[in-house]
Amino acid sequence: MARIVLKFGGTSVGDTDRIKNTANRIIDEKKKGNQVVVVVSAMGKTTDQLVNLSKEISAYPSKREMDMLLSTGEQITISLLSMALAEQGHPAISFTGWQANIQTENIHGNARIIDINPKKITNHLQNDQIVIVAGFQGVTNDSEITTLGRGGSDTTAVALAAALKADKCVIYTDVTGVYTSDPRYIPHARKLGAISYDEMLELANLGAGVLHARAVEFAKNYQIPLEVCSSLVRESGTIIEEEVTVEKSLIVRGVAFEDQITRITIFGLKNGFKNLSSIFTKLAKQNINVDIIIQNQTEGENTYLSFSIKNDDLRDTIEILEQNQESLGFDNFEYESGLAKVSIIGSGMISNPGVAAKMFDILSMNNIEIKMVSTSEIKVSTVIEEKYMIQASQVLHTAFELDKVELDVK
Ligand code: ADP
Ligand code: ASP
Ligand code: MG
Repeated sequence: MARIVLKFGGTSVGDTDRIKNTANRIIDEKKKGNQVVVVVSAMGKTTDQLVNLSKEISAYPSKREMDMLLSTGEQITISLLSMALAEQGHPAISFTGWQANIQTENIHGNARIIDINPKKITNHLQNDQIVIVAGFQGVTNDSEITTLGRGGSDTTAVALAAALKADKCVIYTDVTGVYTSDPRYIPHARKLGAISYDEMLELANLGAGVLHARAVEFAKNYQIPLEVCSSLVRESGTIIEEEVTVEKSLIVRGVAFEDQITRITIFGLKNGFKNLSSIFTKLAKQNINVDIIIQNQTEGENTYLSFSIKNDDLRDTIEILEQNQESLGFDNFEYESGLAKVSIIGSGMISNPGVAAKMFDILSMNNIEIKMVSTSEIKVSTVIEEKYMIQASQVLHTAFELDKVELDVK
């Protein structure tokens, strides 16, 4: 008997008919003799609607109260799905994050899972029940409800699969797998039959919303094979695993993009490294995720420093810089919003020099100015003006031969 974790995203449970359809897919797996744990998201656009409701009340609501609000979305789905399964004669029980003992760190809005005690879930599985767990939420050790960051239900599913030592974890979503780029915006994007954990991690971190990056991190750390496939169309999806040997010829396997980026530039930073580390320590303490960092020596001891953040963190960043200008020892700072990050990803880059040069060439031929760059062994990221984001992604997708190549789709 296999133990499996299935995760269904918002579209897959968007209305009661879809919930019934999802119940049927779950029953198919149960009938194969599997023990089945299901993780679900909030129905359709519920989480966005809850965010909008909060905005009608407050421009900057407390993060704790946002977690109280947003965690309600998933609770609706788990109970309805449990009822749908019972209607079909399959006993099921639903749990919120805290009932399922999903313990997180004490951070609101973007908490990491630190421990899951699976005892309660395994007891119910042994009683032949289907267990349904609310995605995207957990509880701190002082009983505060937290959420895991947008898209976090994927992470609930993979973390549960690790804690339950599940044989596999399948992420059902509204596309048929992981594509070479977001098929919603890049019409020539192609489905990948397989992709490595490392490539998927870069894709997810760099904006490919199909999987929550921490879910991929968990999958890699615990060596859990993941499959991403459609809940509506029955065809094989994308396998994410350690070694992907197919399609070696492709140097770049994906193009990812992310909007709402702001670049901060600090001028006249004194006392080099000491103040540099103080700035990033202060930002980290407020959970501000700093991405690309560029530091330049100017005359004497003064340096200037640029880094990119998400627009959402701009207000907090400005506050920290203004309040600590003297102790951090800099002259002044400016920021530029309306930027985006466009990245190419592929493990073939390790052994192929000139990939970054080709990327810069293509952007320059299209008159797209590059404002920041960062590279790793398997990715090159550029920050450009937001209005060019889709165009840049499209031309890169074509130039790196991702449009037409027969990929490893089964
Ligand atoms: P769910 O609600 O099922 O979690 P999401 O909206 O979070 O669904 O993720 C699926 C969406 O991810 C797709 O509809 C697609 O627009 C987007 N996406 C972004 N990048 C990719 C990619 N490389 N491959 C497939 N889908 C992608
Ligand atoms: N409902 C949450 C969101 O929309 C979590 C998720 O769907 O993964 O971000
Ligand atoms: Mg998602």
